[in-house]
Order: sequence, then C-alpha cells, then structure tokens
Amino acid sequence: MIACHCPVCCSDDPRNHRLRASILVRDEGIDLLVDTGPDLRQQMLHAGVQSLTAVLYTHFHADHINGVDDLRAFNFAQEVVIPCYADERTAAELESRFRYCFLPPDPAWAKPSLSMHRIVSPQTFGGVRVTPIPVLHGDLPILGYRFNDVAYLTDLKTIPDASLELLRGLKVLVLDCLRYEYHPTHLHVEEARYWARRIGAERTILTHMTHDVDYATLAAELPEGVIPASDGMVLDL
Ligand SMILES: [Zn+2]
Ligand SMILES: [Zn+2]
Ligand SMILES: [Zn+2]
Repeated sequence: MIACHCPVCCSDDPRNHRLRASILVRDEGIDLLVDTGPDLRQQMLHAGVQSLTAVLYTHFHADHINGVDDLRAFNFAQEVVIPCYADERTAAELESRFRYCFLPPDPAWAKPSLSMHRIVSPQTFGGVRVTPIPVLHGDLPILGYRFNDVAYLTDLKTIPDASLELLRGLKVLVLDCLRYEYHPTHLHVEEARYWARRIGAERTILTHMTHDVDYATLAAELPEGVIPASDGMVLDL
C-alpha cells in the first residue's frame, strides 16, 4: 500500500506484493480477461498476454475498471473492437465514465475501441461456457463468473441461494477474502472459509487480500484445499 511501512508492505516475500484483483481465462485461441483495474498494463506485460477475445466486468468500482485505457494496446495489435460484457449497472457506468471507448473506432486505433454487451445468461467463447453469477457486494448486486468448472467471485458479502445452485461441481473457486477483520462489503477470512466449505470446490483460492494479510501466515492457517492467491499465479486445468 502507498506510504505504508507495515510488515506485509515491507516484506521480502513477493507473495505479499499484490496488484489489483483480476484473472485471465485461457483456452485454445480464447483469452477472456476479468476486469480492467488500474494495474492492467503491468499485469498484461508480466503475463505476456498477446490478445484478448473479450473482457468480462464484475462491477464498476475503480479498482476493477480504471485501467480500461490500456485495452487500446490490444485494439492496436488485433485491429478489432474488443467486446466487453457486464450487467446493466456496470455497463451504464462504463459507458458514461469512459464514453470515448464506446464511440466508433478511429482508423489509427488511437483510443480504446470497445463494444458493450449486457450479460444476462451464459455465453460460449470457443470451449469456454461463461455463466454470470449474481452476488451481493454489500448492498450492490454485482457479477461473478463461472468458466466451465472454475468460478471467480471477487468483491462480495453474500451469495444468494439461486447463485449457489450455479456453483455446484466446481474444480476451482477463486473467492473474495479481504482481511481478518469484518468488512461491510467484502468477505473476511472467517466468512471466506465458511463459503469455501459451503460451495465445496475441489480447490478454493482466496483473492483481493489487503496488506493486513501475510501470505505465509494465512496459508498456514487454512484448511486443506484452500490457499491464498498470489500475483502471477497460473493454474493449469
Ligand atoms: Zn502495509
Ligand atoms: Zn468493489
Ligand atoms: Zn475490489
């Protein structure tokens, strides 16, 4: 964290140095990015991402959208308009805050050129079936996503029963876990453990941690099958 000298921020363990929450889901010829946080450029460079098939948005908070301008690099490389998917509220927020991104592309791809699609039902990209999973981020309804046997649920406080039905039989669940202390709009460690147990994925990976969480300390406390995420983590499925 900026201007912080706590043991986690000063730690030598690279797993304690975290960029904003995001994942890239890859399958033959398909690259689906979830969210475009302010660290997008660094994340794309680090992961060597060459192209994007689509961007899926969970919600419109700054830490999940404010890197949108760097999508322009993919317009430039791919010479196509990049489709984005979001729920109605997030789509409207993006279209108003980043209006220029949704205007027709200019010939030199000098700005991000995106199209916005409201996602209300499962969509298929190559071999990846993407199911939107409604969750509550405090009082705010937002989306998680299921990709075949993997689900990504960040920034949440509650999972409605109807959404739990959509989370059966998961191999991997990536789940919000902000810190040890209670938070009104995010899961804290105890709640994340509860939902991990209740959903029962083969593996649960905790994400969106703050500097209150030391990687090794949390990892040592978690039950079998539950681990903290770290930046650059790759799962081969
Ligand atoms: Zn700190
Ligand atoms: Zn949020
Ligand atoms: Zn967030």
